[in-house]
Amino acid sequence: MNEEIIPLARPFIGEAEEAAVVAVLRSRHLSLGPRVPAFESAFAQRLGVAHASAVSSGTAGLHLSLRAVGVSDGDEVVTSPFSFVASANAIVYERATPVFADIDPVTLNLDPQAAAAAVTDATTALLPVHIFGYPADIPAFERFGLPIVEDACEALGAFHADGVAVGARGHPASFGFYANKQLTTGEGGMITTSDPAIKARIDSERNQGRAPDMGWLDHDRLGFNYRLSDLASAIGIVQLERLDAMLEARTRLAALYREALAGIEGLTLPCEDQGGDRRGWFVFVVGVPPQADRDETVGKLAKLGIQSKPYLPAIHLMSYYRERYGHREGEFPVCEAVAARSLALPFFPEMTEGQVDRVSGALRAVFE
Ligand SMILES: *Cc1c(COP(=O)(O)O)cnc(C)c1O
Repeated sequence: MNEEIIPLARPFIGEAEEAAVVAVLRSRHLSLGPRVPAFESAFAQRLGVAHASAVSSGTAGLHLSLRAVGVSDGDEVVTSPFSFVASANAIVYERATPVFADIDPVTLNLDPQAAAAAVTDATTALLPVHIFGYPADIPAFERFGLPIVEDACEALGAFHADGVAVGARGHPASFGFYANKQLTTGEGGMITTSDPAIKARIDSERNQGRAPDMGWLDHDRLGFNYRLSDLASAIGIVQLERLDAMLEARTRLAALYREALAGIEGLTLPCEDQGGDRRGWFVFVVGVPPQADRDETVGKLAKLGIQSKPYLPAIHLMSYYRERYGHREGEFPVCEAVAARSLALPFFPEMTEGQVDRVSGALRAVFE
């Protein structure tokens, strides 16, 4: 094996990020400094939304957003079982129950009709996920008349059909900046909202419940330490400046993959943009052909020096959710069928056309 291993993901980090971090270190102002609000306003401006609050992770952003729309003990929140586990976990943090509903077989996002059927008198919010960067049908969910929290952790750069950026419709939306996301600060997140009261509550609760006008030992509500540091914010500011280039690279790679993987029998490719919605490319996830064994495929690709990953497993079938809520196979057949076959392929801005060809050739060989 003399060929280099192709990783699943790799952050794009340049000299500007290095310089920005060094500048913060030299300033000695490592947290609660000027880079946090600078990152927030640049992010809000980029999306075209009134407010943004930087937080320590996308998960922290979901948690604070759910609290901000009033989710608490015993409430039900309707959400997608086809997501990273964080979106359901954040509901459990507030002692509310995640109520799953099945997904659309094409977009893989929460199906509005299935979600409507899952709403009860105890439902206090909806938590749709823009999975794999594809816009969830937020306009349909808006018609439910319930508060919405958007999991936009995978969807930076996506747009709804009406031209509004994902995360800019006004509902609290949480973005994640872990190292594999479209923009990274190592760990980190951002909540966008059009509501100044929600912004104020989130800013307080991310900082131990401190009111902005209070002396620093007085707290008027329960809060957390969900702050983002100035070091991380400085990286975020630079990453935002190169976001267009990084998104374009991902879009180009997706097109190359589509071409290189065309004609493999039974292979499912990510859906094309529908009806004016625009994906913000995050991962390139295929569905292995029905006759192929997905987990064996991962092993075979690994032997060829190519990382890949089952992505994503259904949340309701994870041990914790089975044991705590009694979930079983067969509840959400679309999600379960998609999850059983889904496979994420290497996908990152610096990936070369040659690497796309190598992955595609390997996949073709494995299936034939
Ligand atoms: C990454 C991700 C999160 C969580 O983000 P963290 O920053 O890792 O906490 C939540 N939901 C989805 C769908 C994600 O992909």
